[in-house]
Amino acid sequence: MKNFEDLGFTPGILKAIRELGFEQPMPVQENVIPLMLSDECDIIALAQTGTGKTAAFGLPLVQATDTESNNVQSLILCPTRELCMQITNDLADYSKHTGRLKILAVYGGASIDNQIRALKKGVHIIVATPGRLIDLIGRGAAKLSTVTTVILDEADEMLNMGFLDSINEILEEVPSGRRTLLFSATMSKEIATIARKYMSDPVEITIGTKNATAENVSHSYYLVHAKDKYKVLKRIADSEPGIYGIIFCRTRKETQEVASMLIEDGYNADALHGDLSQAQRDTVMQKFRVRNLQLLVATDVAARGLDVDDLTHVINFSLPEDLEVYTHRSGRTGRAGKKGISLSLVNLREKYIINQLEKKVKKAFKALPIPTGSEICSKQLLNWIKKIETVVTEHQEIENFLPEIEEKLSNLDREELIRRVVSLQFDRFLDDYRHGEELKSPIEGREDEFRKGGRKGSGKSYEGTFKRLFINLGKTDGFFPEQLIELINKNTTGKKIPIGKIDLLKTFSFFEVDTDHADEIINALNNAKFNDRRVAVEIAQEKTDDHSSGDRSDRKKAKWSDRRPDRKRSGKNESFRRDFKKDKKHGKREYKKNNR
Ligand code: AMP
Repeated sequence: MKNFEDLGFTPGILKAIRELGFEQPMPVQENVIPLMLSDECDIIALAQTGTGKTAAFGLPLVQATDTESNNVQSLILCPTRELCMQITNDLADYSKHTGRLKILAVYGGASIDNQIRALKKGVHIIVATPGRLIDLIGRGAAKLSTVTTVILDEADEMLNMGFLDSINEILEEVPSGRRTLLFSATMSKEIATIARKYMSDPVEITIGTKNATAENVSHSYYLVHAKDKYKVLKRIADSEPGIYGIIFCRTRKETQEVASMLIEDGYNADALHGDLSQAQRDTVMQKFRVRNLQLLVATDVAARGLDVDDLTHVINFSLPEDLEVYTHRSGRTGRAGKKGISLSLVNLREKYIINQLEKKVKKAFKALPIPTGSEICSKQLLNWIKKIETVVTEHQEIENFLPEIEEKLSNLDREELIRRVVSLQFDRFLDDYRHGEELKSPIEGREDEFRKGGRKGSGKSYEGTFKRLFINLGKTDGFFPEQLIELINKNTTGKKIPIGKIDLLKTFSFFEVDTDHADEIINALNNAKFNDRRVAVEIAQEKTDDHSSGDRSDRKKAKWSDRRPDRKRSGKNESFRRDFKKDKKHGKREYKKNNR
């Protein structure tokens, strides 16, 4: 691993880096900084927010800026006002010891006259949201003919927000000999088109897996009755006393309703959505950033401007319509090397989406049981006891009251005192959960039918769930159960991994593994070879019909689900056509209807 000192920075920049407390370059920085400092090449960096990408482009950009000239030299385009301000602040930090660098943030919702005045005085770097920059170009205030470097930050977000035409328009204003850098969490067709059109022979750098959510994020879901969603949300919050997370809803109305109910029920929560004024949104975001709020209920659009690194949870109260949005949501947790948890509340009709998401993020999603009242009470109690154990009691004021308190409580023995304190503290939980009914999952009593992979393991003692995987080897490859077990044993670290049903076909096969080990097996086998053939393993596609998703007893139905994940639907193949119709009927349309 390199140090910042090895990357070619001037002493002024190195001093700023030290003051920011950065000790080692993050991977995106290690890759991008040397290229930016020594080469003129265009760069595409696929990196999520939170990977250190601002410093990756910002530090070399600041170093390369000629502060003797009064011309605009660099343009950074980004999707939101908040990101625009954040990048501007970061650049100001980087340039603390390197002369009079003039950076201007240009975004909507702020006085355009001030921005015009600042542009007239001369700036070196413009950080802009596309809409306001177009406005300033139209008024003749922003002149980009001297720009030599363009950075497109969070390019995928800009495209999601409909800025494609504006980006095209802006890039037409910048001389063609410029250098262009594109940062994006994902590589979509639209991003590739921009790259082809505006970049020349770009070097592509991928941090983490392409189009996958953060490595450290685990994905789980609760199968719930639609009417119980809010109650389950409360149970999740109650069973995670240290939770610091965003709850994503689909509409502004739903966002406000969920937030209002949580507030009314005593949770430290608030709403963030587009019906609030900019000032209200700023206040809520600030409260959340400094952790004065534990739960933020938000729409996707409103949450875009919020960048928080240490969320413990992302909760999908409603799954997004677009699977891509799920990756953005879940990528908000598990940052900066920390573990993150993405939870989804899913009703029966939406369950097929989980299968699509598993393929999208290339990870197995775990079905979780709804926390029971006694589990919640026990977690809360243990958390509270931990707090008692670690609390610092050095307030002088308390000392003054102690003799009186001791006298008043002198007739209670230790046991009774503990009992009373606990019951006071736990009034709400005990009332809510002690006598309350447990919430039932819609599949209660039919778990076997819905077990991932369809059934319990053949070993009688196995109590876990299985995930069904596809492998690109079949009987014609000389691949039989013995070879599968050997392949798994050879490529995993000597643990006993429960294997379920194995379905061998001619050129490919399916097998079930313990859900908790599915990711490990996918990763391990995808790097393996079998008789010199590269092995490919992925999660098998499930049927879309909820009521039969796990039932392998009906072999006709099983045929539908046992298709190769990569096989295209063909007009000639009647069974695939039927499946597709079924998909549509039970799928997106139903999904939309039920979530409006
Ligand atoms: P970004 O992906 O640019 O939003 O950065 C995410 C966070 O990482 C920010 O809070 C940065 O201040 C921080 N950061 C960036 N580079 C480093 C580094 N080399 N060491 C430690 N923290 C860093």
